[in-house]
Amino acid sequence: MLERIDRDAIIKRASELMRSGATMLAESCPLCGSPLFKLTSGEVVCPVHGRVMLVKTEEDLSKANVTSVLTELEKSIANRLGDYVSKLKSSKEVEFEDIRNIISWLDALERVEKIRIILSKEKEQEKTKARPTRKT
Ligand SMILES: [Zn+2]
Repeated sequence: MLERIDRDAIIKRASELMRSGATMLAESCPLCGSPLFKLTSGEVVCPVHGRVMLVKTEEDLSKANVTSVLTELEKSIANRLGDYVSKLKSSKEVEFEDIRNIISWLDALERVEKIRIILSKEKEQEKTKARPTRKT
């Protein structure tokens, strides 16, 4: 599922980052596994994907991982649906199988959206939890 990564390009980009004062982190990109770099500005970047959200805890890292996977999944599903749309446009006869596949992909897309909503709700709850409470 992962895209092919040009090793030379990563190494080149990584050395550019190092030269600009970025430091290599122990964490790796949840999408491609490349080591992440922290810029002097404090931003965390992947040499392949560019900016990556800054994660502090193991739990954060796994959530960021899920979010990245969902994003990739969404893109793949959208591509698949696009293929079916052009197939429907170009062919005169509509095959039942295609319709069934489209429905399945739409179902998958809907599930991705639902998971996203659940994740964002969890995030909201954490924010409220993290807010300091005054002891009386
Ligand atoms: Zn990456």
